[in-house]
Amino acid sequence: MKITNRCKGVSPSVTLAISAKAKLLKSQGLDVISFGAGEPDFNTPKFICDAAKEALDLGITKYTPASGTMELKKAIVNTLAKKGLEYKPENIVVSNGAKHSLHNAIASIVEEGDEVLLPIPYWVSYSEMIKISGGTPVYVPCDENFVINLDEMEKLITDKTTALILNNPSNPTGVVLSKDIIKRIAEICVKNDINVISDEIYDQLIYIDDEIPSIATMDGMKERTIVINGVSKTYSMTGWRIGYLAAPENVAKAIASMQSHTTSGPNSIAQYASCAALNGSLDEAIMMKKAFIERRDAAVAAIEKIDGLTCIVPDGAFYIMIKVSNFYGKSINGKKINNSLDFSSLLLEESLVALVPGDDFGTPEYVRISYACSMENILEGIKRIAEFTAKCN
Ligand code: PMP
Ligand code: GLU
Repeated sequence: MKITNRCKGVSPSVTLAISAKAKLLKSQGLDVISFGAGEPDFNTPKFICDAAKEALDLGITKYTPASGTMELKKAIVNTLAKKGLEYKPENIVVSNGAKHSLHNAIASIVEEGDEVLLPIPYWVSYSEMIKISGGTPVYVPCDENFVINLDEMEKLITDKTTALILNNPSNPTGVVLSKDIIKRIAEICVKNDINVISDEIYDQLIYIDDEIPSIATMDGMKERTIVINGVSKTYSMTGWRIGYLAAPENVAKAIASMQSHTTSGPNSIAQYASCAALNGSLDEAIMMKKAFIERRDAAVAAIEKIDGLTCIVPDGAFYIMIKVSNFYGKSINGKKINNSLDFSSLLLEESLVALVPGDDFGTPEYVRISYACSMENILEGIKRIAEFTAKCN
């Protein structure tokens, strides 16, 4: 059967593929340490699970409105208000995870042939989602600290530029853009009439004290921003598949119509539980955040001790980019490492450590580790990386 060009050009998600491979090897009895997918290892807090049980007992097992329940939309409005973002339920669409919200957002504002600015390094799914909608990703370079280069960004703007995708804190770098940079980005977007899709899924995982606003709070930005968030990361609810967006009313309405013909409303039980999550206490989220800080510190300290590897200390999310290009051209047990894919595959084969090669993030000199796993695994995994690199010659 013939498939469309739009579909042909899309590559599979490397983050999900690697985590699936690590899980498969584990199920075969191999002692694999997975630094692959960014998925918190904590259990979903009990009060959220209890809410899901309550939903079942109450018989909340039927279709919900296509754009989400009013109760959850109100909880989302209140959550966004705490960030200084004023929305009404009419601005909100609840979807099957933030990934789905991102796809809906892109599909609603990107026309065939439009250019979308995508700062490097970028999360693997953004470039593919842009292509699925017929747009062209235009990659914006960063400086040596992975901060977007705004002069270069301005040079890349053309009359086809429709949108910028911003992810703060960033997956894959963990970099947190400052208020000053966010303000400068906003000024460029207003001046050039560019919309922003602002993915704020890691906003509860910021490890510095500075105030980091949403770009939608900047002058002239609310009407040109689609804010994306969800419960996956903050509440360790990756499997529940609830994400949301806040957008100008006409955009939210169009997305709701699209969703009414594609997926309908997300799972009713997960929506009920997500409502409890957003209305409930952040105590457990704060506890997880503390654990992530300890894990980050331990991981960075261990990586910095390894000859030939360098990394930038991330201020948010749960990822570290490690520069591995010093090992390109070297071999391990007679097998040559030419690029980050070779480095990752050989590390998995030889040392049973799974991580994500940098190519699909636009950074071929790097690999990404996720430290959303136990301290024990972090230390053991990095020890194995040290042993692996020591054997390369
Ligand atoms: N945005 C970013 C930057 C992410 O890392 C993820 C993680 N998968 C998502 C969106 C999607 O999250 P989910 O679909 O699990 O809500
Ligand atoms: N966002 C996570 C990651 O980058 C989860 C996997 C995915 O959804 O792609 O690893």
